[in-house]
Amino acid sequence: MKKPNIVILGAGYAGMITASRLTKQLGHNEANITLVNKHDYHYQTTWLHEPAAGTLSPERTRMPINSVLDLNKIKFVKDSVVEIKREQKKVVLENGELEFDYLVVGLGSEAETFGVPGVHEHAFSKWTVNGAREVKEHIEYMFAKYNNTPEKKDELLTFIVAGAGFTGIEFIGELSERLPELCAHYDVPREKVKMYVIEAAPTALPGFDPELVEYGMNLLESRGVEFKINCPIKEVTETGVTLASGDEIKAETIVWATGVRGSSVIEKSGFEAMRGRIKVDLDLRAPGHKDIFVIGDCALMINEEINRPYPPTAQIAMQMAEVCANNINALIKGDSLKTFKPDIKGTVASLGGKEAIGVVGTRKLFGTSANFMKKMIDNRYLFLLGGPGLVLKRGKNPM
Ligand code: FAD
Ligand code: NAD
Repeated sequence: MKKPNIVILGAGYAGMITASRLTKQLGHNEANITLVNKHDYHYQTTWLHEPAAGTLSPERTRMPINSVLDLNKIKFVKDSVVEIKREQKKVVLENGELEFDYLVVGLGSEAETFGVPGVHEHAFSKWTVNGAREVKEHIEYMFAKYNNTPEKKDELLTFIVAGAGFTGIEFIGELSERLPELCAHYDVPREKVKMYVIEAAPTALPGFDPELVEYGMNLLESRGVEFKINCPIKEVTETGVTLASGDEIKAETIVWATGVRGSSVIEKSGFEAMRGRIKVDLDLRAPGHKDIFVIGDCALMINEEINRPYPPTAQIAMQMAEVCANNINALIKGDSLKTFKPDIKGTVASLGGKEAIGVVGTRKLFGTSANFMKKMIDNRYLFLLGGPGLVLKRGKNPM
C-alpha cells in the first residue's frame, strides 16, 4: 500500500510540535512526513519583543531546524508557501509543488491593520527574527543620528507603540528598561526621549485583570512611558501618526502591535475565513476537508463560554499541535479522532528587567514572581519540543 504523504506548512509552535509528535507516533513505513518553512531555522515568536528592543540577541530566539528535528525521519523543505490547491491536494511553493494526502496548515499570522492607511509603508509590523532586527537597528540609528543633526529633531527620539495589547506592552517594557543604557551610550539626555503607547480601547490590555493592568501601567509610567488610552490611530504617515481626534504625533519610529490576522495564504487559497483564520471543526480540520488540519494562529475556535474566539497564542498553538498529530495518526490507523478543548493555564506578560504581570490558574502574580513564571513558561516550551537537553542548551535563567 502507498505510504500517505503528510505535509506540514510552517515551522512555528504549531508546525514544530506536530512534526516532532508525528515522527514519534508514526514509523518510517507508515508515512512520508514533510515540513515546509521559509527559513531553515525555527524561531520563538513569543520572545521577539526582546531582540526588537535590543535586550536579547536575535540568535537566542532561533535554532536550526535540524538541531531539533531528526531529519532522517522527516523531510525538510526550505521554501515559501504560495497557495494551497485544496481540490488537487497540492501545495504551490515559490520553487516547486508538493502533493499531500494529509495537510497541516501552521503558517502563523500577519499584522492586522484594520484598514488604517500607511501601516505597511511607515510602521514596523513584522514580528519575525528579521523584523525584530530591523526595529532594533532603526532605534539605535535614531539615537546615533540625534546628536549628529544640527536641528536635533524631537521626532528622532519619539517612539510610538500602536496598541496596548500584550505585544505592545511587552515591547515597551523592554525598550523602557533599556532606555538608560541607550541614553548613556549615545550621549542623549533622558528627558529628550518620548515613548508613547497608543490604545484604541478604554484601557490597556483590554480584558486582563484590572489590578495587574494598573500595576503594569504604573511601572511603565515610572520609566517614562506615556499612555494615550481611548485614542484610535486613524493613519500612519511619513511623519508620525494621526489620531481619531485629528491630533498628530510626530515620530520617526512607529511599532505596530494592534493584533494579528491569519496568514494571507489562507485567503489566497479560497478558504472561508474571518480575518485570515479558518473556523475549524472540533477535530481541527477545515470544514468540508477531511484531510486538511489548520492549527495555531491560522485557526479560529470560539470559546462558547464567552461567545468570542480564543486568542491566537502559542499556548493554544502547541495544544492544537498535540491533538492534530494524534488525529492524523488516528486517521492513518483507522482510529477515532479526538476533539480539541483548550486548557488555558494562564497568561503572563513581561515588562522588562525583572518585572512581569500574570494570572496563573486563579493566582495573580506581579514583579519578580511573575517574571520567574514567565521564564518557566518559555523554558516549558523548549522542554515540550526537545526535552531537558534543549532547555539546558537554549533555556532562560529564571532567576
Ligand atoms: P508562528 O509561531 O508564527 O510560526 C509560523 C511559521 O510559519 C514561522 O516559522 C514562519 O516563518 C512560517 N511561515 C509563515 N509564512 C510562511 C510561508 N508563506 N511559507 C513558509 N513558511 C511560512 N503567545 C503566548 O501564548 N504566550 C506569549 O508569551 C506570547 N508572547 C508573544 C510575544 C510577541 C512579541 C508576539 C508577536 C506574539 C506572542 N504570542 C504569545 C503569540 C504567539 O507567538 C503566537 O500565537 C504563536 O507564535 C502562533 O504559533 P504558530 O505556529 O501558529 O505561528
Ligand atoms: P491584541 O489584539 O491582544 O492587542 C491589540 C491592541 O491594539 C488592542 O488592545 C486593540 O484595542 C488595539 N488597537 C487596535 N486597533 C488600534 C488602533 N487603530 N489604534 C490604537 N490601538 C488599536 O494583539 P497583540 O498584542 O498583537 O497580540 C496578538 C496575540 O498574541 C494575542 O492573542 C495575545 O494574547 C498574544 N500575545 C500574548 C502574549 C503573552 O501571553 N505574554 C504576549 C504577546 C502577544
